[in-house]
Parts: sequence; C-alpha cells; structure tokens
Amino acid sequence: MKEIKNFINGGYVAAASGKTFPNVCPADGRSLSVVHEAGRDEVDQAVAAARGALKGEWGRMSVNERVAILYKVADGINARFDEFLEAECLDTGKPRSLASHIDIPRGAANFKIFADTIKNAGTETFVMDTPDGTGAINYALRQPKGVIAVVCPWNLPLLLMTWKVGPALACGDTVVVKPSEETPSTATLLGEVMNDAGVPAGVYNVVNGFGPDSAGAFLTSHPGVDAITFTGETVTGEHIMQAAAVGLRDISLECGGKNAAIVFADADLDKAVEGTLRSAFANCGQVCLGTERVYVERPIFDEFVARLKRGAENMSLGAWDDPATTMGPLISEEHRNKVLSYYRKAEELGATVVTGGGVPDMPGDLARGCWIQPTIWTGLAEDSVIVKEEIFGPCCHVAPFDDEDEVIAMANDTHYGLASALWTENVTRLHRVAAQIDAGIVWTNSWFLRDLRTPFGGMKMSGIGREGGHYSLEFYTELKNVCVKL
Ligand code: NAD
Repeated sequence: MKEIKNFINGGYVAAASGKTFPNVCPADGRSLSVVHEAGRDEVDQAVAAARGALKGEWGRMSVNERVAILYKVADGINARFDEFLEAECLDTGKPRSLASHIDIPRGAANFKIFADTIKNAGTETFVMDTPDGTGAINYALRQPKGVIAVVCPWNLPLLLMTWKVGPALACGDTVVVKPSEETPSTATLLGEVMNDAGVPAGVYNVVNGFGPDSAGAFLTSHPGVDAITFTGETVTGEHIMQAAAVGLRDISLECGGKNAAIVFADADLDKAVEGTLRSAFANCGQVCLGTERVYVERPIFDEFVARLKRGAENMSLGAWDDPATTMGPLISEEHRNKVLSYYRKAEELGATVVTGGGVPDMPGDLARGCWIQPTIWTGLAEDSVIVKEEIFGPCCHVAPFDDEDEVIAMANDTHYGLASALWTENVTRLHRVAAQIDAGIVWTNSWFLRDLRTPFGGMKMSGIGREGGHYSLEFYTELKNVCVKL
C-alpha cells in the first residue's frame, strides 16, 4: 500500500507515533494509500524547519531569485501534470474534464501570477514638511511576515492550497501546510516539485492529519507560527480565530457561502440556464462559490425550472477517467450523510422535488462510492434551513420573485456573503443591482470567471480579508515605514 508521509525540511518523514489513517477514493471506496498522521513532534519539526529557513538561503534571496524559482515550481507541476491530475481525481473522485481545466492548471498558475505580482509591486512614498523646513521622506518596505500556517479544505485541494502558498513564497515567507485529511496527495507530491525546483529545505512543509486534537489544531496553536491562512467551514474559521488570538497572530479566513443567483426576465435564458447548471452542480456542488439559492423573475419561472431540470437530468455521473463523465461523487460517506439529511429535510418541509432527491444506482465498483443525485427544489419558505444553511452538495432551491428591490432583499437575507450571479441583458440594471448585493464577488452573466489580480474574499460570515493580486501581499507581508529626515 502506498504511504503518504509528512514533508518536513525537504524530506519525507513518517509519524513517530506510528499513527496512520486511510486515504479512500470516494468514487468506489477503494483504499488509495495510508497517511502518516503528524503529532505534536512532527508539527514542531515542521515549524522549526520553516523558522530556520527564514534565516537561511531563502531569507537572503533577492526577489528576482525567488521569482525564478516560483516559475520553476509552476513548470514542475505542468511537467508532471498527469500525475497531479490522477492524484487529485482519485482523492476527490472529480472528473478529469474538470480537474484538467481548473484544479491542476490553476495550481500551477498560482505560482506564476504571484511571482509576477511581487516583481511588479511598489510601495507608497510621502514627502512631508518639518518645522525646521528641511522636510522628510517616508517610504514603505515590505518584509516577509514569517512562518505561515496554511490550512486547506478538500474541494479544490491543489488550487486552494497554492492560492496561499504561491503568494506566501513570493513574499519570502515559509509555510507549513495542513491539507485536508480527505485529500493529502497533491500537497505531498508538491514537495518533490519544490525540491526539484531548488526551493531550499524548510521553506515548504506539509503535515497531515485532522483538525481538533490533531495536526490542524497543533499547527494553528503553535507559538512559532506568525500568521494563519485558512479556507474551510465558517465554524472551523471561528476555532482558528480563537487559536490565532493567542500571541496576536494575523488571520485570513475564506469560509462558507449560501450564494444566490438572480435571473431577470430579460436574461439570455440559454446563458442563464447553462451558467446556473454549472454554478449549482460543478464539482458535485462542492464549490464555495456555487449557487444554492436561485431567484427567477416570475414570467420566466416555469420555463427556467423546466430547463434547469432537463440540464440536471442530463448530467452524467461516472468514473473520473470516463470522458463522458460530467459529475463525480461527494467527498466522503460522512459528507453524503450530511447532504442526504438536507434532502430528507426538504421533503419533510414540503418542498416540491423537481428532480433528484436521493442516491443514484451506480454500476460495478462505483456502487460503493459516495454518489448522490443532482437535486432541484421549489416551494420552500425563505426562512427554511434549506434556504438558510450551506449544504455543499449538488442542489439548489429555486424561488420566484416579482421586483428588483424584493429580490435584492432576498439575496442579502443571509449570514453569508461570498458570491452571487446576476443574469440580465439590461446593462443599467446589472450595475445597479451588483452595487447592492452584499457579497465579495458578483458575477454578471457568468460564473467562476476569475481574473487572479482581482480581490477575492467574503463578507459577513464568509470570511475575513481579501486574497488575489496585490491584496494577497497585504496578508503575507509586514509593511514597514522608513522615515528619513532630510
Ligand atoms: P473544514 O472546515 O471542515 O476543514 C478545513 C480544514 O481545516 C481541514 O484541513 C481540516 O482538517 C482543518 N480543521 C478542522 N478543524 C480544525 C481545527 N479545530 N483547527 C485547525 N484545523 C482544523 O472544511 P472542509 O469541509 O474541508 O471544506 C468545505 C468548506 O470549505 C465549506 O464550508 C466551503 O464553503 C468552504 N470553502 C470556502 C472557500 C472560500 O474561498 N471561501 C473555498 C473552498 C471551500
């Protein structure tokens, strides 16, 4: 059986405790590998390696030298594209068509984009008057923040991890990554790429394990960590914020969502249906930016629901390497039980199940996987748990609306504020409504169209801080003002 070890100080390290846990493919339940669970010892070693690297060769490198290495990391991922692709697809069950277009290319691109960002980043200068008339100049220097703990989820493992590791390394920090226990493979494989690219030992470290009373909690409470960047559930974010309070460490939190799509009667219906199908069902609905609430203007409501139903029923559930597959399974049995509990709740609350609502019959080995039907509901009250809570499965509730103010109020009536999608051909309305939606990103006539220079993050309980382009530099560096009296 393949073993996945921790990656510490440039080498692979077994758990001293001998504790391991299984890594299972959610598509068919087969065991992929055994993972060495990091205890306090391994987390200590990883943090010490990261601290040491700050003072070594890495800390002395020029920005241009770091940039050159990050380009090599990106090239190294691309050179081993098929290995990363297979590892990601087996860990998650997601189709090749998705991971080959999004997860792996974006995983590589995250190193180049932040290499380019740091190379072109400037700082402000202020010239000031002084009482003696000679004046002074202030200029700012960016210096690395230090050792960054990177805690990641399972839905887009390589993409979301490198979205943090890329800027951290570009800024000269060192990292200790805690991948999700469900998806340890690509973070571990990246260790080899780092070594091959010439990243000095200790700059990139990976500790495997769970959250509470395991590697996640040991890392985020470790006093040798200077800042914590986290993507995952809001409630986990709250725990991490508490851990970060000790020692006054900085945090960046990208958390959950309950995202709304608004489809106006003047929308291009083909585009709106296609976009909503993607936003509700891509990655089996396990995308933080995905749509779980759809509001459709009443004159087109019936037609929209009928077309969305056809689209959902045309999705092809199957093995990751089958070119016909458009949807994979949920990540785990535990997560399927959670999503199915919402499916049952929707029916108890009197929802009309437009399509889906259960578990599909899958052939052969796939029958042992965590499959679930894409599901559409109508008819629920706006205050029902289905409309309020993040489900994180391939499902959405569709409700009609009659006017613009009403639908803006409905879209904003949530504790979350991550993303939103508007569908209208009326350009004035598009700008007017976009300005009133409380979400960190508002897509209009599109979904998941990402320019990596733009600010990304959530309002309200969806997170704290913004990532992307120079916004990432705010978190991964300390700005220091130098005041020069002339
Ligand atoms: P999760 O919060 O359960 O786990 C995320 C990571 O935190 C895992 O590595 C886990 O082991 C670790 N962890 C759990 N408890 C911890 C603790 N007490 N201390 C330290 N570490 C701990 O999230 P998940 O189930 O892996 O991912 C799904 C969630 O992530 C959804 O809520 C989704 O919306 C969110 N998400 C948000 C974004 C975004 O950009 N806003 C992106 C992707 C996913």
